[in-house]
Amino acid sequence: MIEQEVTIFDRIIAGETPCHRVYEDDQVLAFLDIGPLSDGHTLLIPKERARYLHELSDPAAAALGRVLPRLCRAVLAVTGATAYNVIQNNGSAAHQAVFYVHFHIIPKFPNRGLGISWSAGSLDSARATELARKMRAEMGVG
Ligand code: 5GP
Repeated sequence: MIEQEVTIFDRIIAGETPCHRVYEDDQVLAFLDIGPLSDGHTLLIPKERARYLHELSDPAAAALGRVLPRLCRAVLAVTGATAYNVIQNNGSAAHQAVFYVHFHIIPKFPNRGLGISWSAGSLDSARATELARKMRAEMGVG
């Protein structure tokens, strides 16, 4: 287990803090966000404790991936939304406030949902070649 301070999500998993539970199995828990950006804003967390996504084990990551699309379908069906964002923040500079890995599922309505500023650059070919080569090496693939 990774050493970290107890977060509100640890308390929710332990049943010490109540939540509106949407889904639970032995590896993950989904519940409604207490400060929704839109109706149906839902959080999905692993039961394995980690602050950041890159700290998660493969089995915990797989468990999240197994449930996430099903959870999105339920959010869409119940809210009537046809568009949504899945966002996962890592680090306070990236807007993370609760330091326990979580995915947000945020339905998008005309005036409600996630606001995004997306300031796209252009991919430099030499830099791209270098980045991809180094990342492949980091991941142990050719
Ligand atoms: P972050 O900015 O860390 O990605 O998002 C943390 C989210 O957790 C926020 O959207 C916030 O509303 C939600 N949150 C914080 N405390 C609680 C809580 O006690 N219960 C629930 N259900 N959500 C919480």
